[in-house]
Amino acid sequence: MTSELPKAYDPKETENKIYQLWEKSGFFNPDKFPGRRKKTYTIVMPPPNITGELHMGHALNATVQDILIRKKRMEGFKTLWLPGIDHAGIATQNVVERELKKEGKTRFDLGREKFIEKVWQWRTKYGNAILEQLKKLGASCDWSRTRFTLDKDYIKAVERAFLHYYKKGWIYQGKRVVNWCPRCQTSLSDLELEYKEEKGKLWYIRYPLRDQSSSTRTGLVVATTRPETMLGDTAVAVNPKDKRYENLIGKKVILPIQNREIPIIADEAVDKKFGTGAVKITPAHDLTDWEIGQRHKLEAPLVINAAGKMTKESKVCEGLTPLLCREKVIKELEKNNLIAKTEDYSHSLPYCDRCHSLIEPIPSKQWFLKMEKPAKTAIKTIKSGEIKFIPKNFEKIYFDWLKNIKDWCISRQLWWGHKIPIEGENDVLDTWFSSALWPLAVFGWPTKTKDLKTFYPTDVLSTGRDIINLWVARMVFSGIELTGQAPFHTVLIHPTVLTKEGKKMSKSLGTGIDPINLCEKYGADSTRFGITWQLMKGQDVRFTEDNIIMGRKFCNKIWNASRFLLMQKPPLIDADKLCRLTQIKSKNLTSADKKILKELDKTIKSVSKDLEDFQFGRASHILYDFFWHDFCDIYIEKSKEQNDEKTKEILFYVLLTSLKLLHPFIPFITEEIYQKLPINNKKQCLMIEEWPV
Ligand SMILES: [Zn+2]
Repeated sequence: MTSELPKAYDPKETENKIYQLWEKSGFFNPDKFPGRRKKTYTIVMPPPNITGELHMGHALNATVQDILIRKKRMEGFKTLWLPGIDHAGIATQNVVERELKKEGKTRFDLGREKFIEKVWQWRTKYGNAILEQLKKLGASCDWSRTRFTLDKDYIKAVERAFLHYYKKGWIYQGKRVVNWCPRCQTSLSDLELEYKEEKGKLWYIRYPLRDQSSSTRTGLVVATTRPETMLGDTAVAVNPKDKRYENLIGKKVILPIQNREIPIIADEAVDKKFGTGAVKITPAHDLTDWEIGQRHKLEAPLVINAAGKMTKESKVCEGLTPLLCREKVIKELEKNNLIAKTEDYSHSLPYCDRCHSLIEPIPSKQWFLKMEKPAKTAIKTIKSGEIKFIPKNFEKIYFDWLKNIKDWCISRQLWWGHKIPIEGENDVLDTWFSSALWPLAVFGWPTKTKDLKTFYPTDVLSTGRDIINLWVARMVFSGIELTGQAPFHTVLIHPTVLTKEGKKMSKSLGTGIDPINLCEKYGADSTRFGITWQLMKGQDVRFTEDNIIMGRKFCNKIWNASRFLLMQKPPLIDADKLCRLTQIKSKNLTSADKKILKELDKTIKSVSKDLEDFQFGRASHILYDFFWHDFCDIYIEKSKEQNDEKTKEILFYVLLTSLKLLHPFIPFITEEIYQKLPINNKKQCLMIEEWPV
């Protein structure tokens, strides 16, 4: 029964072997547990994009979820961690378009059908790479239940949800100014933009008053960062409370170059402090101006088209890019002495976060979901405590967004995605429309499947803060609206992994770290332990490799201690008897025996509580201190003096219990050692051993 451990721990050899053992056991799948388990514990993995590559954020989130799942599995729950992949509409379409570009082709050369075929080919080739990487980390997901957001069943779920909202009258088509990417040829949500701070200019342009005597040449001065859009102006607006312009409201100015009369209007939305307090209104090319235009029934001539070129309406600039048009407009204004002054001006400009083209706001016909009622539902669910945010302060991001919510533009002019289920409609749905259904669609909703009944609602959603609005809020109202039940009871917002200096990790800047490289170099357990070690008090992680190295030292310590104990040729250990031994506090126990058993008991309680409270870092520190200090430094040393059968039993009892407690954090090495322990009634794997109480 007893087998010795090799002298040094080799993660590479162990990890592959052990992962195969787990997969073969079938215990990742909740239907395959021995015995009957009633209470479920379910986590649905946030599906990575098929274009994604594993980064430290994924590694952290996978570690956290795996710790939760492994502990609950040992506590006797019917645990399911369901993995999957998101089709990631715009992101994937862009990747494949870039591939095509290498052959000098665009998606339009291929046509829709051929292009989509090409994306599917790409998906087959690369689509599961990221899940394979998660296996390397030790993720104990039920791979037999892997879902993809474009699976046939999933398409049914999306259509049903759309229809549900449609029948309620919450879906409508409308014309709005949207964020438009002239390259992707699609509308984008505010959340799909990236902003770059840029040094620009603020031009102060004089619009002559219609009724001005020709001797004064002052006119009304407006400030703008985009003079080219003035060709589409239909008003000048001031704040109604602005005393400087009181007398001008209702009068008219002459729009230079176009030589059109446009009114001076008053609107609360105008910021008195910006520029001169008078602003030009271009309803077709600015989101705020569009709303002001709607309120004042202004026309909205289009001067920039969907391809990002100046239109016929712009007259003198037709066919030019907006930037060239800007130069021409400024020259013309200067010639007529209509530029009062210019200032340097820094502002942030929106870019498409997929292809990095400058966004052009333009009016376009789109599908919208009315957000008034869904937002109320989403707010109520958190306020009532039905769903808890951890840490609680992230509720604020959620509430702030929902309280100022606008209707959700759910259509995209892309090819890769869920087609809007309306006849003759070619647009696809915003990727997040299907992602919002993830926790129910993965179980087969709207079909009343056994899985839906068993595993929905799920327990914990663990995700990053950047998608609280994009995703979490939308899952909450979708779940309640479509099933009557919140999709989970806890939203765990995990810390962000930053560079050592506290900056955002970025692959393009070379500051990103590939967790798979860390696994290759130090082993998956060391990587997991090093990450977990830093999860303290919800603070962001300033990543240093030192912690992973510390994790490796700890793994080696556990290995060496276990090896030392196994070399003592212990008798077959009866775990039940050992449990009793600790409870009796037998007279035969020395003070060292009593101390280690007491410390072990304390450790069990603290680690169990910390994991219930999602205090992963603290739990790992407690385990480290206990194992290294109380067990190795003190008790194992002492045992060399005591050297009797009872001491041996205690040594193995403490070791076995420690392995169980450590298993969720460092599953591979603990499993490997467990397999070598001489125990009576040994389970097939440590993975399904009982959690110590
Ligand atoms: Zn784009």
